[in-house]
Amino acid sequence: MENKYSCSVIRDLLPLYCKNTTSEESNEIIASHLAECKHCQEYINSLSENLKNGDKETQRFNKIAKKIKNRKIKTIIFIILLFFISIIGTMQITGIITVTGNSMEPAISNGNKFFINKIIYKVRKPQRFDVIVYKADGGRLFIKRIVGLPGETIQIKEGKIYANGQLLENEYFKNEISDSGIAKDPVKIGSNEYFVLGDNSDNSKDSRNDPNGLVKENLIVGKVNIK
Ligand SMILES: [Zn+2]
Repeated sequence: MENKYSCSVIRDLLPLYCKNTTSEESNEIIASHLAECKHCQEYINSLSENLKNGDKETQRFNKIAKKIKNRKIKTIIFIILLFFISIIGTMQITGIITVTGNSMEPAISNGNKFFINKIIYKVRKPQRFDVIVYKADGGRLFIKRIVGLPGETIQIKEGKIYANGQLLENEYFKNEISDSGIAKDPVKIGSNEYFVLGDNSDNSKDSRNDPNGLVKENLIVGKVNIK
């Protein structure tokens, strides 16, 4: 059986034979040839050795691929975590208020949404004419403009605002304030309180009236960035 012709044909078939893809008839011929031919036996041994090594290579690549995949998953999880942490962080330093009512017209209208800057008053004190969001009346949020600072005396006379007896020149309350409320007489502001007004003073419940009254500093939620 051993001759150059059959060996070259068998050799071409051996890779297929190793993978069990040859027909039953071919298998018989190949097997009987292998039993007799040393060269083809050596060849098929080297083939199966290569296949085994190939498997090892494949396993190694699979391992590497798995590692890369794991790293990707870790990165994705990390990014998702970072995303949630930043959202929670952002909620600590900002918030959104949807304004109801028209007490801050014309600067702010009913339904307007604003970001609340919650961090600024940890850096500096609230200033005159800042628009602030504060809690009052059992936790409800209100949005008004600061007019009087801690320690000042505020009075509203003939439609105009006076701080410590001085007329408060400003661009926000151009119209006469028709209702002075409690500020018809001088109102002394406490050391950690603010006197606030709605820009639309004819349609605003603010420091002139209960229940809002003077705003305690610890009830201020933050500042709204608006002129
Ligand atoms: Zn042979």
